[in-house]
Amino acid sequence: MQIHQINLDRLKEFETPFYYYDMELLHRTLAAAKVAADKRGFHIHYALKANFNDRILQAIQSLGFGADCVSGNEVQKSLDMGFPAGQITFAGVGKSDKEIKLALKEQIFAFNVESIEELQVIDTLAGELGERANVSLRINPNVDAHTHHYITTGLDENKFGVPNSELEQAASVLRECQHVDLVGLHFHVGSQITDMNVFKSLCVKVNEWKNWFEERGTQIKILNVGGGLGVDYHHPDTQPMPDFEAYFDVFDKFLERNGQQEVHFELGRALVAQAGSLVSRVLYSKSGVKKNFLILDAGMTELMRPALYQAFHKIERLGSHADAEELNYDVVGPICESSDCFGKEVPLPVSKRGDLIAIRTAGAYGEVMASRYNLREEIRYVYSDAFQLV
Ligand SMILES: *Cc1c(COP(=O)(O)O)cnc(C)c1O
Repeated sequence: MQIHQINLDRLKEFETPFYYYDMELLHRTLAAAKVAADKRGFHIHYALKANFNDRILQAIQSLGFGADCVSGNEVQKSLDMGFPAGQITFAGVGKSDKEIKLALKEQIFAFNVESIEELQVIDTLAGELGERANVSLRINPNVDAHTHHYITTGLDENKFGVPNSELEQAASVLRECQHVDLVGLHFHVGSQITDMNVFKSLCVKVNEWKNWFEERGTQIKILNVGGGLGVDYHHPDTQPMPDFEAYFDVFDKFLERNGQQEVHFELGRALVAQAGSLVSRVLYSKSGVKKNFLILDAGMTELMRPALYQAFHKIERLGSHADAEELNYDVVGPICESSDCFGKEVPLPVSKRGDLIAIRTAGAYGEVMASRYNLREEIRYVYSDAFQLV
């Protein structure tokens, strides 16, 4: 149920701040993604790092998505939530021995390997444990995602992936590895990408590298093109879902694959972002000489994206009337950091202590990034099915 549809008095009964999850929208989004992917024979592994709230994972798992993990604990969490080991991938530039061993013992589907040294470590550990490891080699496609530099990952100077200059060596190391099978190539250009041309450029690179390997006699079973599909942070109500059809269509059109080749995706944000809002209460309103401030009981400890990468989130007062007088507010949190600000000069109805504020499109990289800085309370969350319609 959409947050505006909820009786304000009911909502006010909950201790703030909390994450509100619109489970109906989540289900609709997952279903739309699934239909669009299935139609083209594509596989989606959900990137757990975007949100690993139990109910959200349950919903994703029950639809048959795989899991894309970036830590041993995420691998364990996926298993605990019922994702089959054969549908779990493990990525990340800094996998520890302990994490690699866990993944080997659990016989997950594949490791996305990010360096030659990691390849050798996985080979050694697999040998010690008497296991075999499937690996996909992460290749830096050198495609500019035209997104914030903190969330661009596919350029040569990034820490992610095997540099192109080392692929020749990686291919020869792979031939020497006794306990490792190369199953795929992995690419991920960045996050919050809304320009489909970026994905088109990615396809061109994937084709090039696939051919490069095949010319060297190495067959590639899986083309893993990562995630990164963006959402509309400015229009959560009119654009509650990304255009999955248009997104998958790009890959269907521009990716060259033979009959046996599978195409895997690792979507995170696109599946969960719009389903979450952070609900907070106004503690104080303050008028400076030039500025008005709204001080909330939520801060960067509950939602870090604005402080971390100047991310925009739509901010609304709940229970607003269209004709209410508006003021421009700097909406800030209680944390002792100047960057603890959700938005500057945000037009909002004149607000007062006790009013509820919703910070929208917070379902991805929100709850998962919550911290205890300032010894803040554990993050709280409620699900839409706990409410009745107004
Ligand atoms: C973070 C990440 C994803 C998910 O990214 P979204 O932008 O949330 O879709 C997928 N693959 C890799 C390798 C990642 O690091």
